[in-house]
Amino acid sequence: MTETPRKVALVTGSSRGLGRAMALNLAASGFDVAIHYGRNADEARKVADEAATHGVRAEVFGADLTVPANAGALVEDVIKTMGRLDVLVNNAGITRDTLAIRMKDEDWDAVIQTNLSSAFTACRAAIKHMMRARSGRIINIASVVGLMGNPGQANYVASKAGLIGLTKALAKEYGGRGITVNAVAPGFIESDMTAQLPENVQQAYLGGIPLARFGQPQEVAALVAFLASDGAGYITGQTIGVDGGLNPH
Ligand code: NAP
Repeated sequence: MTETPRKVALVTGSSRGLGRAMALNLAASGFDVAIHYGRNADEARKVADEAATHGVRAEVFGADLTVPANAGALVEDVIKTMGRLDVLVNNAGITRDTLAIRMKDEDWDAVIQTNLSSAFTACRAAIKHMMRARSGRIINIASVVGLMGNPGQANYVASKAGLIGLTKALAKEYGGRGITVNAVAPGFIESDMTAQLPENVQQAYLGGIPLARFGQPQEVAALVAFLASDGAGYITGQTIGVDGGLNPH
């Protein structure tokens, strides 16, 4: 009897934080995983080694996503190395927070290019492949602030709102080809990114969260794994919050 080949998932920015948790959860769910890093190759290797303990294939890929063309090339590299791509999770993201009147062009460009333009070129490359397979899952990691707005983050908020729009447009363009495209909008999740926020800002966020605690990376990863699973086959074009009730819609 021939074995069914395992599906392949790429999670951008999976060397640490939320992406790491997503890649490990997908590996535990039986996906071969492509672990991507920007700067932390050693951390990415450790994530791949941990993923492989689930009996799946885990490969490491480096690419600087401040240059959007690199994201498309990354997807092609993963397909060439791993033979297929079933799930693309656009997770890599950065912040360059400051008030809009003080925001430098390079702060705006770096955030838009890394968070939005790179996600677009990755989607474009993945969709070409997924169309031939007549199936695929794309999951874009947005943010609750892309829905609500947030002072001091005009670049980041615009990038995340852009990702939500990109998600809706692609869901409509490629639904007929068996490809689902959804966005996940995390709230305040404990990670290196949120650890940078001053204590008073963290306390202010906490006061607005009905569940009265910050989220854990695993709580976002669980939703990503569900969206990648067969059970989520009829969900597309959605933006789903994992935010402790911060944004009740
Ligand atoms: P994080 O801990 O700062 O990790 C960011 C990841 O992205 C790392 O793996 C990093 O890779 C990669 N990355 C950053 N810049 C890159 C670049 N130029 N080229 C390639 N890779 C790059 O962030 P996180 O908190 O896990 O957040 C992950 C995603 O969730 C982001 O899109 C973020 O906007 C979103 N999000 C997070 C929260 C939260 O509360 N944490 C809330 C809402 C949304 P290297 O370290 O290898 O460079």
